[in-house]
Amino acid sequence: MIHKHGKGKSIKMAGVPGPVRYLVIKKTRAIITSIKHLIRDIVRMRAASSGGYACYTCGKVFRDWHDLQSGHCEHGGRNINDSTILYARDVNLDNLRAQCPYCNFYGSKNEKFKAKLKKEIGPTRFDWMQLWNRQTGWRPSFREMAEMKLKLSLMRNFLKNDDPMDMEIATAMVEEYQQELYSGGK
Ligand SMILES: [Zn+2]
Repeated sequence: MIHKHGKGKSIKMAGVPGPVRYLVIKKTRAIITSIKHLIRDIVRMRAASSGGYACYTCGKVFRDWHDLQSGHCEHGGRNINDSTILYARDVNLDNLRAQCPYCNFYGSKNEKFKAKLKKEIGPTRFDWMQLWNRQTGWRPSFREMAEMKLKLSLMRNFLKNDDPMDMEIATAMVEEYQQELYSGGK
């Protein structure tokens, strides 16, 4: 389901006293940061291939996943730095693949990224991913973000083990997470 509610401000706090408002913003920022860090790690760890971790667009292999970055197939527009908003495209694991800093920074391989991803996930899911990414009103609640954080932490732990069986579990968890995201997760 595509969420259309809550356009504009991320948190509704009319009438909420200043100190409480500050605390809510602080907690929201903290959980959003944790989620972003977990996603970034998961995307990079999932790039594991024989001999290391490969850049999605140029194929260069790195020994350490820390040398890669989490690249977006679709970026947001301008003014995307509101730290109190978790954007749909930033939590959509279909939209993210590990890239070397060069490919990610210069973005010159974006057409290749799109073509490869379309082939990988199929054209129907690719179209759905784009539609889902572009929702402007998608705003998970604090509780939804807490659940998301928990699931992502588990995924990360499985991926960290670098064991084929754990990798399979993590892959299944990623798919489940993705399906829940697309269906609204309720
Ligand atoms: Zn690259």
